[in-house]
Amino acid sequence: MDNHTSNFIKDIMIKDLESGKHEKIITRFPPEPNGYLHIGHAKSIIINFGLADDFNGKTNLRFDDTNPLKEDIEYVNSIKEDVKWLGFEWDDLFFASDYFEEMYKRAVLLIKKGLAYVDDLSADEIREYRGTLTEPGKESPYRDRSIEENLDLFERMRNGEFANGEKVLRAKIDMKSPNINLRDPVIYRISHATHHNTGDKWCIYPMYAFAHPLEDAIEDVTHSICTVEFEDQRPLYNWVVEQCEMKSQPQQIEFGRLNVTNTVMSKRKLKQLVDEGFVDGWDDPRMPTISGMRRKGFTPESIRNFVRETGVSKGSGAVDSQMLEHFVREDLKLKVPRTMGILNPLKVVITNYPEGQIELLDAEINPEVPEMGMRKIPFSREIYIEQDDFMENPPSKYFRLFPGNEVRLKHAYFIKCEEVVKNENGEVVELRCTYDPQTKSGTGFTGRKVKGTIHWVEATNAVPAEFRLYEPLILDKTEEDNDEDKTFLDHVNPHSLEILQGYVEPNMRDVMPQDKFQFFRHGYFNVDPKHTTVNKLVFNRIVSLKSSFKL
Ligand code: ATP
Ligand code: MG
Repeated sequence: MDNHTSNFIKDIMIKDLESGKHEKIITRFPPEPNGYLHIGHAKSIIINFGLADDFNGKTNLRFDDTNPLKEDIEYVNSIKEDVKWLGFEWDDLFFASDYFEEMYKRAVLLIKKGLAYVDDLSADEIREYRGTLTEPGKESPYRDRSIEENLDLFERMRNGEFANGEKVLRAKIDMKSPNINLRDPVIYRISHATHHNTGDKWCIYPMYAFAHPLEDAIEDVTHSICTVEFEDQRPLYNWVVEQCEMKSQPQQIEFGRLNVTNTVMSKRKLKQLVDEGFVDGWDDPRMPTISGMRRKGFTPESIRNFVRETGVSKGSGAVDSQMLEHFVREDLKLKVPRTMGILNPLKVVITNYPEGQIELLDAEINPEVPEMGMRKIPFSREIYIEQDDFMENPPSKYFRLFPGNEVRLKHAYFIKCEEVVKNENGEVVELRCTYDPQTKSGTGFTGRKVKGTIHWVEATNAVPAEFRLYEPLILDKTEEDNDEDKTFLDHVNPHSLEILQGYVEPNMRDVMPQDKFQFFRHGYFNVDPKHTTVNKLVFNRIVSLKSSFKL
């Protein structure tokens, strides 16, 4: 695995090793199993695993599963699969829910130290009492309960004597703190819900701000890397670690989230797209999820290279989605076979080619990589070409087929359009052409030149295939569009998927799900693992060939 170039987090780690503060770097990737991972998580994975790797340290995969309502084992399994697929191996696998007993004890310790209390205020009242950035908060009337009463009530909360929302446990810090996070944050709430790991054992659950620092400290994490939204929570993180008297004292370090243009990067929003049927699941190829990108045909290498290029910093501007496409083109260019596929077929009959004859033409599998060898492509009297490689009345500078014009068929012969066959609606349904045997590709023919080269597939052996072409799922706001009432769902692109029925070369008959190809002139495609069956080939376009994007 290639390592990180220098960045501010790496510098901190180097210092901590040199000063002897730590002997070994321990990081963790801590997803909440409430959705599938997206490309933003890939950044967190690469930073956490990559940095630990740089120093021969270790990285845990820890499920931050402290909210039973939203979490599910399906998500746990998909997250494990995605982390592995991206090319990372965790050292230990942990569930935050396995620490519930330990967390409970630490909360009891806070109560005993007079640093936590049971509050009967409602959620709305707590919010009201909290104050604002400009106004200090107000103390709850329950703030001065005795330690004995708090211990008793907290135990009864655990025993299920109260309904959801009836009571919470709060840390007793400072209602006047300029940092709102320190104004007696709620650290436990009641939720009578079944948890995917602990079942019905608990009906009180720790809040993220209390649980996360304890999880890190329990695992001896040295550097707890998170995104910048948590910067204001750092004083609370440190307070929890210190007041709960944890042996290890992890250091929280924040970096800027990854955002990419023309997509959304939040599990909540992605779940909405799934639940409301905008896409056909978390792994829909239009989704920025790891599973969606895998199904579309992205490789782990392309995702890793992209993320590394975005760097590690505190800032978080949106990265152009074309940069992602650039990296997958670069990765596939020399790896995958080239082939021909017809997305919108138009039948061509070559009238002077012997009936019943099929010849096998030679073509390189990838001309940029001769070691990949050669393939045979059948050619006969009937072929398919693309509908838009023919125009009956072309504009000037149109060099493909039109009546009387000659073009080169890639790997084959020159053909000339002699006659256009139409149906009763006047639509072109077939072309009748002639070929010139002397012009066979690879024979060094120099007699005359043609300006256009088009691709084709021999008709009698062609394999039917479905092609799925994608456009961005979400269209970013334009300058004119300043309607603040619009939600991201109003920006869903209604034309994000186009499905075409065409043909591929006969040697594609045995391709396997996730096999990747470059189709001449059309771009890179992946064999769709969900819709491909023994009887039906489905290709997802990963990316077209050309881009204006420059790194
Ligand atoms: P989301 O908002 O999509 O639900 P999250 O932050 O709630 O994301 P978690 O499961 O808590 O999701 O995330 C696990 C780790 O991944 C966290 O450390 C989080 O900071 C990081 N992460 C999430 N989104 C991004 C992103 N866009 N860029 C970088 N890191 C991210
Ligand atoms: Mg979250």
